[in-house]
Amino acid sequence: AKAAGRRTWRFFEASMAADLEARLAIEADLREALPGNQLEVMYQPIFALQTNRLSGFEALLRWRHPVRGMVSPGVFIPLMEETGLIEAVGRWVLEQATREAATWPAPLKVAVNLSPLQFRAADIATSMLHVLSQSGLAPGRLELEITESALLQSDGGVAEVLQAFRSTGIRTSLDDFGTRYSSLSYLLSFPFDKIKIDQSFVRDMATRAESVAIVTSVAHLANQLGMATTAEGVETAEQLRRVREAGCTEAQGYFFGPPESATELRRWFDEPSRS
Ligand code: C2E
Ligand code: CA
Ligand code: CA
Ligand code: CA
Repeated sequence: AKAAGRRTWRFFEASMAADLEARLAIEADLREALPGNQLEVMYQPIFALQTNRLSGFEALLRWRHPVRGMVSPGVFIPLMEETGLIEAVGRWVLEQATREAATWPAPLKVAVNLSPLQFRAADIATSMLHVLSQSGLAPGRLELEITESALLQSDGGVAEVLQAFRSTGIRTSLDDFGTRYSSLSYLLSFPFDKIKIDQSFVRDMATRAESVAIVTSVAHLANQLGMATTAEGVETAEQLRRVREAGCTEAQGYFFGPPESATELRRWFDEPSRS
């Protein structure tokens, strides 16, 4: 038993070392991503459910690694956050996305994900206005998506930052709603314009009455508080019907379209409605 224990331990040690090596390698590569032109912003359409019209796009970051190929943001964004790289990269995404959106027909909007690190920066509202004025995009056409974890990690001042955005005309969305705790209290204390309901609830609506109840209640409460709601991860006509019935105001997901390049997405401008 002792020998087996030792073997197990050695096995773990070896695999941990391999993990660490892989991680260090990926971190070194990550520093090259921005200067090496390996990053690209893709855009996924978002639809307004009352009008069945395109309302805008969410900017989603992609990394084309020279050897590994496409690396998922679920893998590299956390590493960029730990290493602080997200500050420069996040700013680059904002510059790209606002410049691109300024070429879209008004009033189409662009939604950009803001990392907790960016959100905590003292001059965030001012630097956002600077990026906007450089791009020529009207502030009302920019939406910043902020996750609940960003709020938890922030040491106070959240309401002030959100208020500063609001007074400049920039819109804010609470992202991945429902994936963390004490969610409902955020709705009451913070002035968000929109709630993005996580795809895990949308996915389960066909099979779980609880998910239907949650999405319906959140959409209703948001509506009472003057906020919009986007259902994320809508993949089927059935899911679309359910989120519509639940009272969500917008929907996003593969049913409408996947994230695509700035060039590809322009085809949406010729056929802006979808039922
Ligand atoms: P998110 O903000 O929740 O973005 C939605 C994710 O769901 C995207 O994954 C999108 O491609 C995926 N998705 C869209 N429709 C569907 C669908 O119908 N079904 C399913 N199963 N998935 C769908 P993606 O692009 O891999 O991004 C993952 C996460 O990485 C994002 O989640 C966001 O948290 C983060 N992220 C992406 N780009 C940025 C960025 O520029 N800055 C920051 N800070 N985070 C980013
Ligand atoms: Ca998002
Ligand atoms: Ca989300
Ligand atoms: Ca998510």
